[in-house]
Amino acid sequence: MANPLIYHKQGWIEVICGCMFSGKTEELIRRVRIALIAKQKVQLFNSKIDTRYGLDSIISHNQNKVAAICVRKSEEILALLDKDTRVVAIDEINFFDKGIVEVCEKLAHAGKRVIAAGLDTDYRAEPFEVTAALLAKAEFVTKNLAVCTKCGNPASFTQRISKDKKRIVVGTTDAYQARCRRCYKKPRN
Ligand code: ADP
Ligand code: MG
Ligand code: ZN
Repeated sequence: MANPLIYHKQGWIEVICGCMFSGKTEELIRRVRIALIAKQKVQLFNSKIDTRYGLDSIISHNQNKVAAICVRKSEEILALLDKDTRVVAIDEINFFDKGIVEVCEKLAHAGKRVIAAGLDTDYRAEPFEVTAALLAKAEFVTKNLAVCTKCGNPASFTQRISKDKKRIVVGTTDAYQARCRRCYKKPRN
């Protein structure tokens, strides 16, 4: 069988980053829809950690929905890749192992357009390493902002309102709020 990675067209990496509720998923879905209108084959991946909306789709906070393949590890993306795929979209890159950076690079080298969306920082406002690395390697970078739930200014911080201390805790408005620089309070310790 032909290696699906061999595809002699120019590829590149686009990253859509920002805090929670900043419209990353919405923007990812918008770009995917445009590629589909152009009749390009798209494969959309999400992490199995993101169980918020079932395991066969991604849904934005405003209920925009598209079919997606949920994977546990970054290398599964290469294994599941179809030969004629032109666009590989990956949501919640911050949930993936650090191999996701190399996977995106391999795909781009092989001529795929890679669109990756994810949080740039965690609830303590520290960078997610995979997103930071991918931002450094991407050709195109978009940073979205949300609306601060306290004061209405542009927000780039994710405030965790639940008591959890783990870095990754999946949740929506029950556990997180978008906050601006002034209204964000860094959790102690
Ligand atoms: P992300 O993937 O960045 O978490 P989504 O694309 O899933 O964000 O959702 C973005 C949508 O969330 C917005 O279009 C809006 O309808 C909704 N939303 C809820 N709270 C906020 C907020 N504080 N700021 C901006 N959008 C919000
Ligand atoms: Mg999202
Ligand atoms: Zn504010």
